[in-house]
Amino acid sequence: MSSLPAVRPFFPAVSDASNNGKSTMFNKRPIETLMLNGLPLGSVGEKLANGCRWGPVRMTCFKLLATRDPSWASQELKEIKRHRQHGEDIGSDHLEELKVRFLKFKKHNYLENLDHYEILAQGQAPKFMVIACADSRVCPSRILGFQPGEAFMVRNVANLVPPYEHGSSETSAALEFAVNSLEVTNILVIGHSRCGGIRALMTMKRNSNSKSFIRDWVSVAKGARLSTEAAVGNLSFDEQCTHCEKESVNSSLLNLLTYPWIEEKVTEGVLSLHGGYYDFIDCSFEKWTLVYKEGMEGGSKFALKNYSTWC
Ligand SMILES: [Zn+2]
Repeated sequence: MSSLPAVRPFFPAVSDASNNGKSTMFNKRPIETLMLNGLPLGSVGEKLANGCRWGPVRMTCFKLLATRDPSWASQELKEIKRHRQHGEDIGSDHLEELKVRFLKFKKHNYLENLDHYEILAQGQAPKFMVIACADSRVCPSRILGFQPGEAFMVRNVANLVPPYEHGSSETSAALEFAVNSLEVTNILVIGHSRCGGIRALMTMKRNSNSKSFIRDWVSVAKGARLSTEAAVGNLSFDEQCTHCEKESVNSSLLNLLTYPWIEEKVTEGVLSLHGGYYDFIDCSFEKWTLVYKEGMEGGSKFALKNYSTWC
């Protein structure tokens, strides 16, 4: 059986071609700089287009140049097909960037804190269980500075905790391990601004027959939608969503108490339940705590206390 021809380096990485080897994923890329400045592309644009792998930069060049010279575009499309057949990965720019970041982490974090990582290799004893949204803009480790070993974490659409009766889910499995095996002392549920999952909850049609994993999942928080509509139904849709983003956190906090082993530890005072809300529009963080005990004001067993805003 004949083997595939060796894949030669088709184009140098963006970093090699245009930025003296420096990371470029979040830098202003040369082709975009040219476009923003309204400069003619011509041979300069083609040189840049040919100077990078098939990632977003080269695709931008391709689209722009194709409008000027369709025959050139035709040749380029043939090139794309040929290199896809040879296994050229048009997303390789991004993975190269991750490689650079990983090696930087290894050099400046892992190797400089080797004692700490050797301890972590023996086991973990995080104080926090964090439930956050899968949204790419709200990474808890990034915004709250959790270091390896400090927080057991699960991220899902709209940072929801289903009630115990909901049955098995990856979130309930993570809770069981964090509470019963790791014995975390804090569970923090973090909501956030402009949450797509909450928007889906607020817009989903009742009694729809079409199948949607997202709708099925966010339905876990339908009580938060109902209480939002009752409380602030007169406000704009965006304002209702903001309200529901926080209301759903409280709904999740109450759902945590439906897990018998969580309720037991909260009652014993060895586990605390906290809500959080990260607003990335003005970069602020609200934090509060769910208090659960008998004989509180008004006869309720629940109260939200210790509000604070970090800004
Ligand atoms: Zn979200």
